[in-house]
Amino acid sequence: MNGNILIVEDEPKLASLLSDYLRASGFEPFCLSNGAEVVPWFREHKPDLILLDLMLPGRDGMEVCKDIRAFSHVPIIMVTARIEEIDRLLGLELGADDYICKPFSPREVVARVKAVLRRTHDGHTIQAKGLVLDEHRYRATLHSHNLELTAVEFKLLQFLVANPGRIYGRQQLMNRIYPDERSVSDRTVDSHIKKLRRKIEAVDPEAMLIHSVYGVGYKFEPDATS
Ligand code: CA
Repeated sequence: MNGNILIVEDEPKLASLLSDYLRASGFEPFCLSNGAEVVPWFREHKPDLILLDLMLPGRDGMEVCKDIRAFSHVPIIMVTARIEEIDRLLGLELGADDYICKPFSPREVVARVKAVLRRTHDGHTIQAKGLVLDEHRYRATLHSHNLELTAVEFKLLQFLVANPGRIYGRQQLMNRIYPDERSVSDRTVDSHIKKLRRKIEAVDPEAMLIHSVYGVGYKFEPDATS
């Protein structure tokens, strides 16, 4: 068994579809349909990951996420029906580990669940699609070639890679790289990303790892091209 997954979803069909796919992938799913039931259930059963719908009766997903984060680091994947919501959710910094937009394929959800769990279990090396990030040495390799990243480029890549598929706005990336400076221009992030992509492409021209999301920011999504 791969782990217990709590699915919080008030559309019964969707909940059972997700549940079936997760079970077929070796997980033990459990479904709740009311947001108010999540915290008490969580405290008793300690699931390994929560798939949390945003719009819920009882208590909405955002509030539930905040409630859980007040006492637990359990991986949380938020599910929302609108792509625009994701931007707003990111701004609120709820502490969710990933975001999925409806409609989704259950297969994609299973892949995300596995990715988030893998990440939470791994220690200091992140691996994705031939990419290996050594967080102790600030060294990134792609297909065993050193990318020779600067510290800033490494931090950017590390941040993006840690949450595949999650879209980060320039401001968020900037706060991450320069926590003390507030006056760095948006263009700074663009320029670092550009250099980072160039270094990745120099090793593997086919590797489309970092994607721009028009008007929003950037995301790391190694599976987007496969
Ligand atoms: Ca809902």
